Amino acid sequence: MNITGIAALSDSELAEIISSDAYDADLVAEADRTRREHYGADVYLRGLIEICNVCKNDCLYCGIRRSNGALARYRLTKEDILGCCENGYALGFRTFVLQGGEDPYYTDSLICQVVGDIKEKFPDCAVTLSLGEKGRASYAAYRRAGADRYLLRHETANEAHYARLHPAEMSLRHRKDCLFALKELGYQVGSGFMVGSPWQSAQNLVEDLRFLQELSPDMIGIGPFIPHKDTPFRDFTGGSLKLTLRMIAILRLMFPYALIPSTTALGTIHPQGRELGLKAGANVVMPNLSPVRVRKLYELYDNKICTGEEAAECRSCLERRIVSAGYRVVTDRGDVKRQ
Ligand code: SAH
Repeated sequence: MNITGIAALSDSELAEIISSDAYDADLVAEADRTRREHYGADVYLRGLIEICNVCKNDCLYCGIRRSNGALARYRLTKEDILGCCENGYALGFRTFVLQGGEDPYYTDSLICQVVGDIKEKFPDCAVTLSLGEKGRASYAAYRRAGADRYLLRHETANEAHYARLHPAEMSLRHRKDCLFALKELGYQVGSGFMVGSPWQSAQNLVEDLRFLQELSPDMIGIGPFIPHKDTPFRDFTGGSLKLTLRMIAILRLMFPYALIPSTTALGTIHPQGRELGLKAGANVVMPNLSPVRVRKLYELYDNKICTGEEAAECRSCLERRIVSAGYRVVTDRGDVKRQ
């Protein structure tokens, strides 16, 4: 199998690589070579601010789904969010990622105010939004207010599989339409999927790769599915470290220019998960800047790590991990390097 020419392989060849551990050592070595060719040893930092855990959606895998009555809900104010950015700026962050549930409390005008205020106060920083599915006019307004990037994982590119992970009122078609609208509006766009979600097959993962080839995103975020105790998926097995690392390496080889995070979910299933993710081709980490008092409440899955530490501790802990894995921390905006 020609691993360096992976983008040109057939679906069945890709499925074979995804289903076997025989190629793992080669995949990881080639992925590391490719990331060094495009990005050197650089790892970019993104300060993650989890703005709310209120959500109108009911995704079956997600701990902050609206049907979870066991969860205390919170919302950060504009002042809270700006305070997180101030703290983050002093720690060297030049990208702020505002992520949250789909919460109508955050009207378009409020989101635009928050984005505008961050950009005014920190003009050398990028603002990334990860606030779910919105109308095109809303995305356009956030962009005008100064938002640079948008993260929206497609979760799975197979219609039938998507329907098993989401309630009937959500659709893969709408999610894809959002992603293409975001691209047209000039955002740097991130998408991605969970690895090892219930009923996922190797063929589904091939479909995820094909969809990403069609979308050509700037950022690709993946992480293992981890069951949450208060969701309908509580009894499913989570995604494995091995398969997640294999998929990161495949993504690096197929999308050499992409910004690929080594995610908190990966760090949650293995103590060295994020280091291993970097070694498999990831080049972004997203330390948490949320106020410690709300950290535990943004519980997408069980046993999420880094919920007790202050931002400064997260920052220095991750820097140590990056250096120990053989890479170096970069504190500029870290925009995508397309050919
Ligand atoms: N509301 C935003 C942010 C969602 S949370 C949106 O719709 O984009 C960010 C990501 O966490 C999701 O895209 C999903 O891929 C991941 N996630 C949610 N529940 C998870 C779980 N149980 N295990 C692993 N990842 C999960």
